[in-house]
Amino acid sequence: MEQQSNIVQTEEEIKENLSLFERTQLTIKTALHHLHCEEAVYELLKSPLRVLTVRIPVRMDDGSVKVFTGYRAQHNDAVGPTKGGVRFHPDVSEDEVKALSMWMSIKCGITNLPYGGGKGGIQCDPRSMSFRELEGLSRGYVRAISQLVGPTKDIPAPDVFTNSQIMAWMMDEYSRIREFDSPGFITGKPLVLGGSYGRESSTALGVTLVLKEAAKVAGIPLEGSRVIIQGFGNAGSFLAKFLHDAGAIIVGIADALGGIYNEDGLDIDYLLDSRDSFGTVTNLFPNRMTNGELLTMPCDILVPAAIENQITADNAPHIQARLLVEAANGPTTAKATEILTERGIMLVPDVLASAGGVVVSYFEWVQNNQGYYWSEAEVNRKLEDILVASFRQVYQTSLDKRIDMRLAAYIVGLKRMTEAVRWRGWV
Ligand code: GLU
Repeated sequence: MEQQSNIVQTEEEIKENLSLFERTQLTIKTALHHLHCEEAVYELLKSPLRVLTVRIPVRMDDGSVKVFTGYRAQHNDAVGPTKGGVRFHPDVSEDEVKALSMWMSIKCGITNLPYGGGKGGIQCDPRSMSFRELEGLSRGYVRAISQLVGPTKDIPAPDVFTNSQIMAWMMDEYSRIREFDSPGFITGKPLVLGGSYGRESSTALGVTLVLKEAAKVAGIPLEGSRVIIQGFGNAGSFLAKFLHDAGAIIVGIADALGGIYNEDGLDIDYLLDSRDSFGTVTNLFPNRMTNGELLTMPCDILVPAAIENQITADNAPHIQARLLVEAANGPTTAKATEILTERGIMLVPDVLASAGGVVVSYFEWVQNNQGYYWSEAEVNRKLEDILVASFRQVYQTSLDKRIDMRLAAYIVGLKRMTEAVRWRGWV
């Protein structure tokens, strides 16, 4: 006879072990409750409208054929076409892509872009693939999802381990399938193919703008503040540069291999020059610590800019920062958010802090649609206007409702979508 388990999980443990998708659903539910929505609105928004799973055969360099699994999720298109990146990573799963598409809805809602959220991903390790294999995979993915996407339907973009070269191949493949030039199909393209000035650094610039506003209200002068950045990819590396230029002292950085810390400040220019294309640089330092150890080192501002679930119930009590700004998607678990809030540490959530990328993607799409291109100064000025207003709205909502900024961001981010689904008669 099967023995009954007498292990009882507490409510707290259950919360800590929720998947990204379940965590997102829970926050959406609470936000919709604050927005006085009926059950049907939650039923509609608790999961993407569509999720496509595709199998992509790619001829590898050794002559064999490898079949990859990819996804594209479209959360909701009541406000406009769906929008969001495509990640290439071994851990990509349907659950993750679904959650990320929902976060894109919130980001677009907070920043008032005329989009709903979308997200794609392919299970693969681009670090062990050749240029030619990556091109085959990128083109194969577009062929597999081409019915579902397009400039007025769903617009992909870069995400973890994808870049402007991959966007260029994808745009070229889509244009071939449709038989007309379609720059508005995808954003994050190289400049010569209709990319926008400022797109590459936009996520980091967005984090910087939001971080400056947050530091002001938290009473931390940015000049001379000590900052730790976990992650040295597209977001983390540009961010280190922007904050260093703004007078902050970058005392710690980490990449996939480990972390380095120096209380007098790291040599950011040297680190930027020495990193490889996947943002790895700490291998040059024999006395590095683990990625996790770095998070609890002394600092004023901590910026997780790598991957999910880095700040948990285990390390949240030991975080020494006064301000935590989430540049990565989902770096803090639900329980850790609670612990940090109780400890009076200000937390600026991912859906607000990392929205700069999609805002400039929107500018890129607008420029593609009108065929008229803006200067970098214009792009950055427009980005600043949007993000400062978004920060203030979310912060004010958190004060008015006496709630943490993550829930406030979800409330602000979902409001317009709940109105759009009602106007369309979907609920
Ligand atoms: N992948 C980025 C994000 O998660 C950018 C998405 C986009 O530009 O559409 O926000």
